[in-house]
Amino acid sequence: MPFSVEFNPPRDAAAEARLWRAAREFECLHPAFASVTYGAGGSTRERTARVTGQLARETTLLTVAHLTAVGHSVAELRSIMGAYADAGIRNILALRGDPPGDVLGDWVRHPEGLEYAEQLVSMVRGLGDFHVGVASFPQGHHRSPDLDSDTRFLIAKLRAGAEYSITQMFFEVDHYLRLRDRVAAADPIEGAKPIIPELMPITSLRTVERAEELSGRPLPRHLVARLEKAAGNDPEGNRDAVRAVGIEIATEIGQRLIDEGAPCLHFITLNFAKATTEVLTNLGYRVAPASAPA
Ligand code: FAD
Repeated sequence: MPFSVEFNPPRDAAAEARLWRAAREFECLHPAFASVTYGAGGSTRERTARVTGQLARETTLLTVAHLTAVGHSVAELRSIMGAYADAGIRNILALRGDPPGDVLGDWVRHPEGLEYAEQLVSMVRGLGDFHVGVASFPQGHHRSPDLDSDTRFLIAKLRAGAEYSITQMFFEVDHYLRLRDRVAAADPIEGAKPIIPELMPITSLRTVERAEELSGRPLPRHLVARLEKAAGNDPEGNRDAVRAVGIEIATEIGQRLIDEGAPCLHFITLNFAKATTEVLTNLGYRVAPASAPA
């Protein structure tokens, strides 16, 4: 089964160097694609566009650029798409985005911008030969009134021309399976499009917070208990033991997804290759080390 990886725009030169190290390591493992998230504003956005373009031009990775409608007029979105096209990027993950600084804050559309990701899908498709993916939410998006509405909105994005979706990260595979069933039942044609599950290996107690932020839900109690047991009494935690359990949990989730026929495993990497590589090895992927220079 294919796997893919997600990078974040680096905040500074050191982080950028780390991203490049990870990108080069992943290149050797031939992921189906590498996606780069879109930052909330200002200089991060400029760096995102530059790094995403460089990944597309200077590596063999099929690069997917995330794009959000936050704070952008339609004219600006078109101009960003022009820059991506110039860099050879043909794959876009079209998202509405969250209000800057507060995921739960009021969503305010740019006066000349877009309200929903569905409109961004239509806009990007209308610009030419782009492949478009969208976000899906195994437990429903936090602003959706209920799961039926959430399913309807996802199907609208797929009908607008999205070819696949990538899910919000989750820790209970049943939520992913129910999402897949809901979409297939509501619309067998759109339901046949790939729903790519997103996962992230927990490598420390600090990453638990990040995982909860990204999944939008608290980590299930039984997983917290396993990590806490590994950490022992030390408030810093027994790092190696916590990491080992985190890798074990991601491996279990990945294996179940493979058994259930998920189309691809999409890894949040936080710009590190090691943990994802370990999970892939556990799952039986042949992960050859990069060959030593002659
Ligand atoms: P939409 O599909 O527009 O949905 C937004 C809300 O509006 C939902 O509650 C939805 O139910 C509702 N809705 C949709 N259509 C309608 C309609 N027609 N009528 C009424 N209500 C409607 N954020 C970033 O800032 N940068 C990133 O790079 C990024 N990458 C992500 C990658 C993945 C895989 C995922 C799952 C999320 C990512 N996000 C990112 C977060 C995402 O931007 C937020 O979750 C955002 O709140 C929702 O985006 P969306 O594209 O799903 O929006």
